[in-house]
Amino acid sequence: MNSGIDCYHSDKPEEACGIFGIYAPGEDVSKLTYFGLHALQHRGQESAGMAVSDNQSIIIYKDMGLITQVFDERSLATLQGRIAIGHVRYSTTGSNHWENAQPVYKTFSSGSLALAHNGNLINTQELRNNLRKSGLRFRSTSDSEVIASLIASNADKGIGNAIKETMKHIRGAYSVLILTEKQLLAMRDPHGIRPLVIGKLGDHFIITSESCALDIVGAKYIRDVSPGELVIIGEDGLRSEESIRPDKLSLCIFEFIYFARPDTKLYGKLLYNARESMGLELAKEAPCEADLVIGVPDSGIPSAIGYSQQSGIPYREGLVKNRYIGRTFIQPTQVIRQTGIKLKLNPLSEVIRDKRIVVIDDSIVRGNTSKKLIAMLREAGAKEIHMRISSPPVKWPCFYGIDTADQGQLIAANKSIEEICDFIGADSLSYLSFEGLVKSTENERENFCLACFNGDYPVDIPENLKITKLMLEKEQRSTDG
Ligand code: AMP
Ligand code: SF4
Repeated sequence: MNSGIDCYHSDKPEEACGIFGIYAPGEDVSKLTYFGLHALQHRGQESAGMAVSDNQSIIIYKDMGLITQVFDERSLATLQGRIAIGHVRYSTTGSNHWENAQPVYKTFSSGSLALAHNGNLINTQELRNNLRKSGLRFRSTSDSEVIASLIASNADKGIGNAIKETMKHIRGAYSVLILTEKQLLAMRDPHGIRPLVIGKLGDHFIITSESCALDIVGAKYIRDVSPGELVIIGEDGLRSEESIRPDKLSLCIFEFIYFARPDTKLYGKLLYNARESMGLELAKEAPCEADLVIGVPDSGIPSAIGYSQQSGIPYREGLVKNRYIGRTFIQPTQVIRQTGIKLKLNPLSEVIRDKRIVVIDDSIVRGNTSKKLIAMLREAGAKEIHMRISSPPVKWPCFYGIDTADQGQLIAANKSIEEICDFIGADSLSYLSFEGLVKSTENERENFCLACFNGDYPVDIPENLKITKLMLEKEQRSTDG
């Protein structure tokens, strides 16, 4: 979902979100959704929400904050029903508005719908302008509300048909859940950029962003929602339709590297194992003389273990994470972000003092984390610091719902590897190659979006959106002083 406060914020990719939907008459669907969202909290910490239907009407409850801040026993008790969808939202600057929290709610002549979206459209502005011309008004600036409005405006043709019609017009990344009074529906973009899986809990169906959310409620993974597929779950069970012809598969490889949880499976591969293999490949490609290997918690840890196994250099925990601070990216300003890094990690001086260490992180985006981290490790007594990154240099911005910053802020788009090494203050720096990365996924390169590494965008990015990003980047620089 993408949101913003004015016309040119509106197409800025800001979030990868987490979604969870369940059709389970007779079960406590709001509690199960609460647990599911809990497992997806890493995908969004800014707001959380839920919509529940009892077969007659839809109730929505949403607010800013973590799942545990938004919901309690009392609010969950008011959310009784047979079907539920939930959403957790990720944030960046300028988008932390209540109106942008999800699910989005829309009414139409014969009923209403609630919608939860993970991903980012690239033609929001155009769609919104068209809808405005036909007299529609919007409460938020999010692309998710545009999707909901499009569906609602065609709902008299039947909700399934309205969704199919909508899929013809929206472009970009979308994994979406829709709740009506009687049905749970799901759609996924024709490239399958953001994940979406189907599970079963007894006879009941669940559709969610990651398989770890199925595990937490004791559900079994059945299959992925296919790219271009429309899934309809109702009284007669689950029905599937190819709504729009699937295009070249382009699952976001950043889900493998960083975003999704290590206990999630994508393309059938456990991400913990994939990340361990990334470390293993990295050790083959970029060996180094050192006394120990440490990982940057959490996503750098499996790769650090892999690097250690391949190189024979012992793995130790050199950094302890303060778990309840949240991700540095959710902090709105550069200043707070930088403090955030110190709040988040504490070095174990006794482990690293006078040692030559290999530090493994999953990615360098702006370079601030590595710079702060290395300064901290030197202060804690490390003798040499060899930075190894378990993905290639991030050179291109993401337009499909992951905040990887604007191109001007991407350090690898503006500096050589030597210059980055210098900037972050490491003794050496190496990145994993494309080949090594793809090999670790045990899948074909063709099945991924790798655009933030190679600029090869699976859905063409309109020029005006690229310009928008440049404007945002300028604006960001001026607010950062
Ligand atoms: P940076 O300081 O911009 O170089 O941030 C890089 C750090 O942020 C790495 O430690 C990553 O684990 C983490 N990271 C990478 N991509 C993202 C993202 N899209 N959202 C939040 N954190 C990220
Ligand atoms: Fe994922 Fe990068 Fe593609 Fe965005 S551009 S979808 S972060 S691989």
